[in-house]
Amino acid sequence: MFSWVQKRGTSEHRAGPETPLQGPEQRYWFVWDPLGIVCAIVTWTLMLSAAWILIRDLFIPSKNVFYAVANGVVFHLLASLALVSHLRTMLTDPGSVPLRNPPGPDTVSYCPLCLSAVPERAYHCIVCGRCIHKNDHHCPWVNNCVGEDNQKYFLLFTLYTGLISVHVLLLLGIPFLRSPAWREWNAGSTASPPSPILFLFLVALMGSLFALVMLCSQMCSICTDKTTTEMLYQNKRSQGRQSVWANVKAICGPRVSLAWLSPFHSPGRPKASEHHDMA
Ligand SMILES: [Zn+2]
Ligand SMILES: [Zn+2]
Repeated sequence: MFSWVQKRGTSEHRAGPETPLQGPEQRYWFVWDPLGIVCAIVTWTLMLSAAWILIRDLFIPSKNVFYAVANGVVFHLLASLALVSHLRTMLTDPGSVPLRNPPGPDTVSYCPLCLSAVPERAYHCIVCGRCIHKNDHHCPWVNNCVGEDNQKYFLLFTLYTGLISVHVLLLLGIPFLRSPAWREWNAGSTASPPSPILFLFLVALMGSLFALVMLCSQMCSICTDKTTTEMLYQNKRSQGRQSVWANVKAICGPRVSLAWLSPFHSPGRPKASEHHDMA
């Protein structure tokens, strides 16, 4: 697979191990995987169409202006944060090991695909075509690996996706349970809601389930300092940091602040070139 890297104003396509060394001047990261690109487009389409249906079928027809404006602002704020988190997860280097990485004191194996000495806790991804430091898993929905350098953004993506999904379920569920339609439906009526509302409900239900599963899995991975790959294969190489709190700080940032909830703020960890010293 290809990763597109732009260096100092010039761009080039890279295809596996034949490509030149990846230097610290790398600025952009994008995985040219057709399935991942389709999944990412589907994610954006679902979120934007949910926003459109909410505005058209719930907020505009509402006679309560405060209800419509307040819920509209909350939904679009959370949806914007979810989409920015998605973009940052997709376009951030998850922690790639440089191509043709020379052996070092932490080298544990050799990757014939990257022609690189592989440091501890780095695993090759066949989709990205690179070894990724602390590679948790490759997620097609964000078209990228989830590694140490973009795990915060992925965590925020699942968090905000979960929040907007629950918000939509409440927006649909509370008025429905209060309306006569609920009693009719409970009494055996075969009437069904309009198709756009049904679509919105299904999207919100899927979103909340996805967010719940991924959020739990990521929090478990962060707290135990074991990637999903290491959990699946019972890899003994994961060493773990001193405490759960230290593990969370290592992903979200060294100081507790509102920046932890911002996808615009980089956690500011050491870069890939310094990963060797951390292992
Ligand atoms: Zn590799
Ligand atoms: Zn990958």
